[in-house]
Amino acid sequence: MKKKFLIYALIAAVAIHWQGVRAQPVLQHGQLQVKGTRLCNAAGNPVALHGVSFGWHNLWPRFYNSSAVHELVDGWKATVVRASMGIELNDKGYLKNAEASAKLVQTVVDACIAENVYVIVDWHDHNMHQQEAVAFFENMAKRYGSYPHVIWEIFNEPDYETWPEIKAYSIAVIEAIRRHDPDNIILVGSPKWDQSIHEPAADPITGFKNLMYTMHFYAATHKQWLRDRTDSAIQKGLPIFVSECAGMEATGNGPIDEKEWQAFKSWMDMRQLSWVAWSLSDKNETCSMLLPEASSSGNWKPARIKPWGKMVQVALAAYPQGAK
Ligand code: MG
Repeated sequence: MKKKFLIYALIAAVAIHWQGVRAQPVLQHGQLQVKGTRLCNAAGNPVALHGVSFGWHNLWPRFYNSSAVHELVDGWKATVVRASMGIELNDKGYLKNAEASAKLVQTVVDACIAENVYVIVDWHDHNMHQQEAVAFFENMAKRYGSYPHVIWEIFNEPDYETWPEIKAYSIAVIEAIRRHDPDNIILVGSPKWDQSIHEPAADPITGFKNLMYTMHFYAATHKQWLRDRTDSAIQKGLPIFVSECAGMEATGNGPIDEKEWQAFKSWMDMRQLSWVAWSLSDKNETCSMLLPEASSSGNWKPARIKPWGKMVQVALAAYPQGAK
């Protein structure tokens, strides 16, 4: 029994009574599940989540706090938040700084549980570190597996690994998670920065429930061909979750292609695909949603939000309150 969560849900229900109506998607939808190719809520009805990804934790630790989460949920109307734990890149990545890295991610997860919003724990790696991933996810599943809020993303954007290699890695990590968490959604990466979705479609992982596969797009680079390829994967029975996407080029820079972003968004909405926009960061690049002057703790004024951030705000606000 998910005793901890039931007690929490009761407290939250009382809190709603006091606060008035506020979107709390986890109270609305509960334990997610995959049915066929669809993400569904506890009642078995299809649901799509929409939200924002934090940037690499080892570059923007300043945003990994409960106030920033609150702003994304309460102000921006995100129904899912993604914590991107960088594995390599610098000395603050998980490989060289495991304890502090896990702690930052836990800060975001705890804040999402308090807000009753879904949260993706993203192993943000471009190379395979199976031993470390197994240990990390096993610990996290032990700690958070009873909370329906948590979604596990076990390998962000494999680059040159083959699908058989990614598949073997994924099975090892999934087994580690499932030792402690029988049911939360697990997102599996696809080759070539999550664009070769046709490869898992041809050879999916079997024997586990509630798996979805990640497709990532950057609208100015990836166009109709990636929508077509993803459609074909869905037709073959593959459940898809867009755990990272944005409107500019795949470098995260260059101009936003508004027309292609709208084309991707309409396409996702038609299929009720969940999407998460990249990213909450403040670098001098198009995909960073905030300016360096933006506070670390939310309450971001329009003058501190860059054009891409504003587009994401508009897109999120257009969905009905809460996940739909
Ligand atoms: Mg669970």
